[in-house]
Amino acid sequence: MFCVECGREDKIFRDGTCLNCYLKSHTFTKGPKIIELSNCPHCDSFKFKNTWISEHFGDILKKAIKINFQISKELDKVDINSECTEKKEGMICKVYISGFIENEEIIEEHEILVRFDRTVCDVCSKRFGGYHEAIVQIRADNRKLKNKELIDIRATAESLIEDLQAEGNRALFITDIAEEHGGLDFYISEKAAGLAIAKKIQEKYGGEIKQSSKNIGMKDSKQMYRMTYLIRIPSYEKGFFLKIDNSFFQIISFHGNKVKLIDLSKWNETTFDVKSIQKSSILGGEELIKEMILISQTNDEVQVMDQKNYKINIVKKPKQVSFDSKTVKTVKLNDRLFLIPVV
Ligand SMILES: [Zn+2]
Ligand SMILES: [Zn+2]
Repeated sequence: MFCVECGREDKIFRDGTCLNCYLKSHTFTKGPKIIELSNCPHCDSFKFKNTWISEHFGDILKKAIKINFQISKELDKVDINSECTEKKEGMICKVYISGFIENEEIIEEHEILVRFDRTVCDVCSKRFGGYHEAIVQIRADNRKLKNKELIDIRATAESLIEDLQAEGNRALFITDIAEEHGGLDFYISEKAAGLAIAKKIQEKYGGEIKQSSKNIGMKDSKQMYRMTYLIRIPSYEKGFFLKIDNSFFQIISFHGNKVKLIDLSKWNETTFDVKSIQKSSILGGEELIKEMILISQTNDEVQVMDQKNYKINIVKKPKQVSFDSKTVKTVKLNDRLFLIPVV
């Protein structure tokens, strides 16, 4: 057959023309010159079909093109790519829409302007309105939180929230953080995340979590409650030395209501209740640790020298170990010298 356009003898594709002429005389994509998108100036999310989403601009633009452009159904394997430059009036974007007709790749280029309508999103307006479903209160038993605890607890809570947000929960946020009565208060938009923070702090510092709830009225004909999670961390910390009865221990870690300790005379681990620890006497923390020069060792003993006064001490090995370092860590508790376990 002869093509009615070019007159060449070829396979007729459609409307009496060959594929080549058909492709030349048709366009397969059509769209507006300007696209408007609502964009939140605070969190940079975009409104899309009445829903706010946090995605990269490139992905948002792809979605907007799919909706605003007419892309011929004749095109197979449609792909959209773009190159954008930021200008005062918005983003100037070169949009490439590609696809296949009968194994022939078609790429059509459009230049569009994406204008941004700056609107505060649903989540940010809730956040600025002080919305919170949970309050997490961190306090220390009989003392104020130390500066390094304040910094660490804050960072722990913030990074936990960031992780949960990164998993796709954009409705989650910290409304406020306040230092109160020597402790910290976190105001969190969701209860589950509030409890997760309390548990994470408990894991690190020990202590008990107390929950209470407060009726805050009706919403969509449902009773609403605000949760408070109070966690009182113990007055002692990881690394502290304790005397219980006539034995000496170092705190290794906290597990909810339990404390893992190491018995310094035998180097074996034991677990105690937080409550029973509260009655013990605290001798101090890591400031008591002294590094001494290892002079010699036998199976049962080590000879160590104090680096300050060159005094030599003989210490019984808590168990059969052989030290291969030049120094060992020691602690003097009630005039008894102990070797600190090597971790
Ligand atoms: Zn032709
Ligand atoms: Zn926002």
